[in-house]
Amino acid sequence: MSSDSEVSWFDDFLGVGYRYYEIRMTVVPLFSDLKKAQNFWRETVHWWNDHSIKIRFVETGDAYWFIMGAESKHTKNNRSFFKVLPKSPHYERFKKGHGGSAYLRLGTHTKKFKGDVKDDAKCNCGHIKEDHEEEEDDSCLFEDCDCKKFETFQINLLKKKKTVTDIKFLDETEIKDDVLAWNCFSINKYNKERKSDK
Ligand SMILES: [Zn+2]
Ligand SMILES: [Zn+2]
Repeated sequence: MSSDSEVSWFDDFLGVGYRYYEIRMTVVPLFSDLKKAQNFWRETVHWWNDHSIKIRFVETGDAYWFIMGAESKHTKNNRSFFKVLPKSPHYERFKKGHGGSAYLRLGTHTKKFKGDVKDDAKCNCGHIKEDHEEEEDDSCLFEDCDCKKFETFQINLLKKKKTVTDIKFLDETEIKDDVLAWNCFSINKYNKERKSDK
């Protein structure tokens, strides 16, 4: 037996990625390194009952709160995710297209530099590696591009997955009726605001 208030909130991850290539869309909380992601899966997500996993998206202006939690067979290690993120086209696409269910996987989001990638890898400036200076200077060769250093992001997904069938999009006026979202806002927003009022 556990009450929701005992569950600790976890926000030490980078953000959330969305993928669209399978039957269901995939939601991917992103970590800065592989070990952290693997540990989180092993200690927490692994023990979640699939049918009890809930994802809530609560929009507040240009941002949204990503909130995810579940009942666990191993309550000691249970944690719920939350993160306040800027709305993005990927988020909007997920919102429109998820169809009521999604796969959950964890992933890593890492920076890669010129030495780490193939010639056709795309820089964050939009141009490929071959279009950047060789040797020490990394500058982009396109004259109208002010990129000075080749840099790109790579996302890797852990193989394990779970299926989530309880997904809701809410606005802040609706969260009172939702236990998970309400807990999250109470602890991570309203309590903090009260403290800072004093
Ligand atoms: Zn570049
Ligand atoms: Zn460029």
